Amino acid sequence: MELQHLGVVGAGQMGAGIAQVAAISGLDVRCTDIDEARIQHGRETVLTSLKRLVKKEKLTQEEADGAYERMAWSIQLADHKDRDIVIEAAVEHEPVKKAIFTELDAVCPAQTLLASNTSSISITRLAAATQRPERFIGMHFMNPVPVMKLVELIRGAATSDATYQAIDALAQRMGKTTTVSNDYPGFIANRILMPLINEAMFALMENVGSAEDIDTTFKLGMAHPMGPLTLADYIGLDTCLAIMRVMHEEFG
Ligand code: NAD
Repeated sequence: MELQHLGVVGAGQMGAGIAQVAAISGLDVRCTDIDEARIQHGRETVLTSLKRLVKKEKLTQEEADGAYERMAWSIQLADHKDRDIVIEAAVEHEPVKKAIFTELDAVCPAQTLLASNTSSISITRLAAATQRPERFIGMHFMNPVPVMKLVELIRGAATSDATYQAIDALAQRMGKTTTVSNDYPGFIANRILMPLINEAMFALMENVGSAEDIDTTFKLGMAHPMGPLTLADYIGLDTCLAIMRVMHEEFG
């Protein structure tokens, strides 16, 4: 299954990053969001990132221009109707994601693959919002997408082998290495990361140490590139809270 026309829903930090890396890999990309201001913000994020890659000599100006030209932007979800694959990277809220997938399922041809970049929400449940659960998968990119090598793949109960193989090949075409997680809350990455971040916040609240000392302990003591409190800010505290709520609801 050759995937050439890729859609991205959500032009935030993850959506813009996924769109950029896909376009650099030669895919034809369309990115949508809910309003023009967010689209504009996504475009500016991509332009700034491409300029930085040219300055660092990781891309030629020609390659950066080519990638930018392969990207289209709009505020209509229905514009994904000609896509081979659509990756959803909207907010970490199950009702929002389900509504997006139900609409995508209605507008996209039967063969279009659907993927969610969710950090924690059940892929089987999201897939059930569509009539194509066998062509649905979790494709969890890491932040920042242009830098981080990993994509965690999550198969739902009905995800077919053909879907898994096509998405694994797509991730590799985008220069990524994949791991496979079963469909548990938070998958592998956030099941382990979020309790660490949560505990760092408790340690700060209970004055075990200053924010700086908590982060430095992990940078120098455990060789983490950034401390857990800095990482939480980087992910976005709204996203961390949403992920922790999913895990709390599911694990108790
Ligand atoms: P973000 O807030 O930067 O972007 C979310 C975007 O989704 C916003 O632009 C928003 O306007 C858009 N959006 C909201 N409702 C929408 C709708 N109905 N249709 C289309 N777009 C809509 O958040 P983010 O950090 O990019 O996270 C997006 C997803 O990626 C979440 O599911 C998150 O859990 C996941 N994720 C985040 C990280 C991270 O480090 N931030 C890492 C991996 C995965």
